Amino acid sequence: MPQVYDLIIIGGGPGGIGAAVESNVLGIKNILMIEKGDNHSQTIRKFYKEHKRVDKDYKGQVVELEGSVKFEDGTKESTLDYFDSLLDNDEIDAIFNSEVESVEKSGDTFLVTTANAGYIGKNVIIAIGRMGKPNKPTNYKIPPSITQRVNFNLDKCVPGEKILVVGGGNSAAEYAIDLTAKYTVTLNYRRTKFNRLNDINLETLYRLNGLEKMRLRLGCDITSLENEDGLVKVNFTDGYYTIYDRVIYAIGGTTPVEFLKKCGIELDEKGEPIFDENYETSSKGLFVGGDIAVRSGGSIAIALNHTHHIVSYILKHKK
Ligand SMILES: Cc1cc2nc3c(=O)[nH]c(=O)nc-3n(C[C@H](O)[C@H](O)[C@H](O)COP(=O)(O)OP(=O)(O)OC[C@H]3O[C@@H](n4cnc5c(N)ncnc54)[C@H](O)[C@@H]3O)c2cc1C
Repeated sequence: MPQVYDLIIIGGGPGGIGAAVESNVLGIKNILMIEKGDNHSQTIRKFYKEHKRVDKDYKGQVVELEGSVKFEDGTKESTLDYFDSLLDNDEIDAIFNSEVESVEKSGDTFLVTTANAGYIGKNVIIAIGRMGKPNKPTNYKIPPSITQRVNFNLDKCVPGEKILVVGGGNSAAEYAIDLTAKYTVTLNYRRTKFNRLNDINLETLYRLNGLEKMRLRLGCDITSLENEDGLVKVNFTDGYYTIYDRVIYAIGGTTPVEFLKKCGIELDEKGEPIFDENYETSSKGLFVGGDIAVRSGGSIAIALNHTHHIVSYILKHKK
């Protein structure tokens, strides 16, 4: 007989780790966490710059943690270390390098399928975040011949390059600030003023701009990208263009609509998953938590509270 898990958690980010830890603490022992990356917390690893400050009350969203995960302000590294210690200390059955392709309900259980295997669970939490699909510009195309030079994090940057960062949030600001040490950087935001930045990022951006270490190009949008001798020619709405070695978009992530459809989850008119106050979808026993269950914003603490709530609910009503 194949093993039937009480709970299968899809995604090993803060939401998924929180679900695994709470299950252990509260008493659901027969669980499995499935992560597509080779380690947990792929969003933090791939999209946070080195030594990034990590705020618990991210973007001013003040959150009282409800569960047993004691996440605090820190850095990218201290946050990853903390999650490492949670996974090491608890007996959590986790598999990595396994991307879940679908979830199918069959009677009272769910069949969770990856490329190599199928797993059966009585309850399933989908906590896959949104950064598996970073947002791309919608009003123009990225020419295929320059996709190597158009990125969504800092991984491919080569010192000395002239780089355009696009976006108006803290991620874009922090990418641009970080890059000024070794690169010539322009930060482009379509609005004339930043209104979502924390005070430190705001002050740093204007200070670097004043020192001519970075150029702020505000109040104009991009109309198109072109391949100019292998580099990226960026055309702006003000009629000017500039050629960059690299363009980095930091404009958030998208709901993985196709994946959610394959899991049989009902979506609203905006393609967002529909769920109730316990984060349970209309497919009973199938939950969504973390960023995927937040319309805009989201944070580590919010993800942790979601999955703490879901695990408590499963214990009370489903076991
Ligand atoms: C640049 C940046 C900076 C940020 N700074 C902060 C901050 O300072 N403080 C803060 O609180 N929040 C911050 N956030 C937001 C925070 O990272 C998210 O809110 C949080 O990570 C959400 O957790 P999650 O578990 O829902 O999703 P994620 O962290 O996105 O984790 C989802 C996990 O699921 C895995 N996965 C995806 N698809 C599949 C699949 N099909 N099968 C198996 N696994 C899958 C992914 O590999 C990933 O590891 C920041 C976000 C970004 C992008």
